[in-house]
Amino acid sequence: MDQRVMMEVECPHCFAKGQMQAPPPGAVIIGPCPRCSGMVVIFCGRALALDKDTMLDGTNEDKQTHLMSVLGEFLEERVQQIVGMISSVTDEDLQQLIDQEVIDQTDVMGTDDDIESPEPGLISDDEMSKFLDYELPGIDDHASFRENFG
Ligand SMILES: [Zn+2]
Repeated sequence: MDQRVMMEVECPHCFAKGQMQAPPPGAVIIGPCPRCSGMVVIFCGRALALDKDTMLDGTNEDKQTHLMSVLGEFLEERVQQIVGMISSVTDEDLQQLIDQEVIDQTDVMGTDDDIESPEPGLISDDEMSKFLDYELPGIDDHASFRENFG
């Protein structure tokens, strides 16, 4: 199975854009930017800036603390977005969620403004109520969660 899915990444140090083979789901990849050699961690489809000195010369404890704070900040931001979405869900938002697959993590920094408005009328009221009645409660169910978002 040589399925090469490419993802676009932007270096958080020098903002060079490039493509890389999408890592397996759940993978955390740490390495230098090919252009500026700044240290970067690829996590959930995003390239996050790491401190090179810490990652190369720090003690294991230093590295761990540094990674935790970088990933923690990212997760906090993501969680805020998700909570914001959940708490202010309207029919329009739901349609947007369906159109854009919010769980798709291939967006890179700075592209949030480019998101196109969904076309109206793609989802009928019937389909919407199906989504509400059926899909949402399924999120608690692991198998169903994977089926929908894995
Ligand atoms: Zn760079």
